[in-house]
Amino acid sequence: MGAMPLGRIVAANYDKYEVINVADRPRFGPAGVSPDFKELKLPVEEFPKYLQEEGLDAFEYQATRWGPKPQMKKESAEKLGENAKEHDVWLTVHGSYFINFCGDETTIEASKNRLIACVTAADWMGAHKVVFHPGFYGKRSREEAIKVCAKAMKEVIERLKALGIIKVNLGPETMGKKSQLGSLNEILTLCESVEQTEPTIDWAHIHARDDGLIKTKDDYAKILNEIDKRLGTKTVKNLHIHYTPVEFTEKGEKVHHTMAEPEYGPSFRPFAELIHELDLKPVVISESPILDKDSIKMRDILLQILKKGAAKNTP
Ligand SMILES: [Zn+2]
Repeated sequence: MGAMPLGRIVAANYDKYEVINVADRPRFGPAGVSPDFKELKLPVEEFPKYLQEEGLDAFEYQATRWGPKPQMKKESAEKLGENAKEHDVWLTVHGSYFINFCGDETTIEASKNRLIACVTAADWMGAHKVVFHPGFYGKRSREEAIKVCAKAMKEVIERLKALGIIKVNLGPETMGKKSQLGSLNEILTLCESVEQTEPTIDWAHIHARDDGLIKTKDDYAKILNEIDKRLGTKTVKNLHIHYTPVEFTEKGEKVHHTMAEPEYGPSFRPFAELIHELDLKPVVISESPILDKDSIKMRDILLQILKKGAAKNTP
């Protein structure tokens, strides 16, 4: 099938969503460039065009191996940003894995520099958010870990402001391992205490951390209600979401699976139903092993639900 028609189908079906200063409609895209795109040996700047041709409209650039300096040229970052705009792709960055805001003082200082490097590049791209993993409890109590983490994040925000970077949000992510700071409650607490910060809700991580918590639409709805209560309706309507089916053990997350493996939860469909029923406009990033292929699946599940909903409303 030709690629362009898919893009048009998406646009036509999302007409009901208005354009505001957040994602204008539910958007779908991969965490990193897809394996098929890699084979083309093109620079990452060309990826937004590829995504648009697939009918996708979000991309999370992976800065996950970065150290204290941006590991991308400013010109490429700017070009990626321009192309994302041109091809209507919502851009975010996944920050360095080498961040631990609950470690010792040296680790926390190094972590701040790593996060600032990622946010600097995100700013060059015009990206909306830098997702990151806050850290590991280590020897700290949960209360202490969250305190030092919030303090470090506030210092990052101060330094970003001094650099004139005010448009990129920090997006601490709900984490899948029980050794990691990042329960839903902890992430919401960080968002309550640090400005310029909005949560990244990783459904697989919440599911794995809480021993397979998400089974029904009601399980998703409870979590959305909690976010609404704590951070407000604007936040819950415009969430940044990570999704993949996941396998877990008693320690939490073990390995990501594809949507073709129904034995692994959580199921995407109940969340898609809520997107329709609650008129949500999430940016949904696929972290499945087949990335964009599962983004297309998620998008099509939502389109199918929207279509059914529209048919119901027509007399
Ligand atoms: Zn992550």
